[in-house]
Amino acid sequence: MTKASVFIGLFSLRFSMDMELTNRMYQVSTLQALAMGYTRSVITVSELLKHGDTGLGTFTDVNGEMILLDGHCYQADVNGSISEISEGTGVPFAAVAFQERERLVTLTNGLDIDGLKAELNVRIEEKFGLNSLHMVRVDGYFEEIHARSEVPYRSQHVTLKNILEKTQKDFCFRELPCTLVCVYFPDYMDTINAPGWHIHFISKDRTVGGHVFQFRMVHGEALIDKIQNLEIQIPTEPAFDTYSLKNASNDEIRQVEQGNRVS
Ligand SMILES: [Zn+2]
Repeated sequence: MTKASVFIGLFSLRFSMDMELTNRMYQVSTLQALAMGYTRSVITVSELLKHGDTGLGTFTDVNGEMILLDGHCYQADVNGSISEISEGTGVPFAAVAFQERERLVTLTNGLDIDGLKAELNVRIEEKFGLNSLHMVRVDGYFEEIHARSEVPYRSQHVTLKNILEKTQKDFCFRELPCTLVCVYFPDYMDTINAPGWHIHFISKDRTVGGHVFQFRMVHGEALIDKIQNLEIQIPTEPAFDTYSLKNASNDEIRQVEQGNRVS
């Protein structure tokens, strides 16, 4: 075999691998399992990074909020302070994808979180996307941004709502450029994730971040990727089978992941 054919062979192998990784959401476990208290490590951060460069999630024992951006995995601690997490850290839940930057849209000035969700819904609907998944990156300037993170809490079968009541802290940052990572799941997938938008943020200087409750965005633009493939890594250890996942409360999940705060 000539050198050239070896090179072409490697190239085509690489090309077909890349094809498999595009237009695909990779999810670790389910939000329902996390909501019911399955907060054990399913994979490591280094494994997660093979499946996407953009996304969100959390770490073992709900040790802060995860923001995956530009191929780096960041942890927002209970004060919203960001650090790049070590690659051996465990991940009980995450949704990530390789962003392909399919569509760039300029957003209306002055949006709050409900305004952004409504505008993104219009944008995905105009491309017939409400039944697909979406990974959206919003880069903008924020007058203020309200978010939360939490300290870790080791438990089993304690619901995420009960955990967050003990461990979460709200914070607000003002006048800063930030990136939002917005993950959209369609409503018929409400047994594996929360339908609608789930949003985390990180500041442009990578110093603060968290799970977003509310904001006032002065201006911003959105990179929208429509995704039609989904891969779920179901936990492999027997403890996972002790959870009755059909009994997860969708109201609680909505409150924890999309509501204003857990009270
Ligand atoms: Zn979150």
